[in-house]
Amino acid sequence: MTGQRPLLAVTGLKATYSHSITALEGVDLSLAPGEILAILGGNGAGKTTTLKAVSNLLPAERGQVTAGDVHYEGQTTLTRSPADLVRAGLVQVLEGRHCFKSLSVEENLVAGGLGRGSGRSEIAEDLEKVYTWFPRLKQKRRTASGLTSGGEQQMTAIGRALMSRPRLLILDEPSMGLAPIVVQDIFRALRRLNAEEGLSILVAEQNSAIALAYADRAVILENGRTVLEGTARDLRTRGDVRAFYLGQKAAPAIVAAQ
Ligand code: ATP
Repeated sequence: MTGQRPLLAVTGLKATYSHSITALEGVDLSLAPGEILAILGGNGAGKTTTLKAVSNLLPAERGQVTAGDVHYEGQTTLTRSPADLVRAGLVQVLEGRHCFKSLSVEENLVAGGLGRGSGRSEIAEDLEKVYTWFPRLKQKRRTASGLTSGGEQQMTAIGRALMSRPRLLILDEPSMGLAPIVVQDIFRALRRLNAEEGLSILVAEQNSAIALAYADRAVILENGRTVLEGTARDLRTRGDVRAFYLGQKAAPAIVAAQ
């Protein structure tokens, strides 16, 4: 990390649901402008809760932040409405590739631009850009989203988020339920968006192997806490991370080298 101010900083975050179920017990992470940061961890580790806290979406789920803070561009997000955060460039693609199934792919995309208050020419320009990132969406532009494949629906959900011109794009498990080749396509497009447009990306993934292949850095959550943080390159080669999170046996030589 450089010495510049982080775009996003989560510090000592604790959260509950219904004032009784503890979900987060101390999450810390920091994302520099232009970075791709992955949040890794198994089922129930707290990835989704962290992302929802960042976008101040927890209250809608009877969730409460009980300690800590989230700063986006130096300002807390916890007192701002999710819509205000979207206008400020903090845009989230929720888990489960939400699309309006009866609308066409293009209508779904246009809906993303309207939320931001874009005019006609801006929307046309942004649509062309989304079609450059995801050419499959151009072929399917007139098809009802509900009739497109899971991968195309995920691309539509990401494309809709891009239509609101994010500075920080947040994605919750974009790989979920998709074939490996489609997952590769999606992560490749995200990497290109990052490299060519400078888009900062925060992505939660159970699929650590793919996330570590494309992210710059990662944090690992366990039981609602940050337990490990490092560059993707370092984490990829660490024996314990390989064994626990990549589903690979740690090579004894690597473990011994720790
Ligand atoms: P997954 O990959 O399974 O979504 P996750 O890492 O995203 O896991 P969270 O969904 O953030 O984890 O869950 C953290 C904890 O909070 C878990 O113990 C979970 O059961 C609990 N939890 C999540 N959502 C709710 C909710 N709406 N109401 C009550 N408890 C919840």
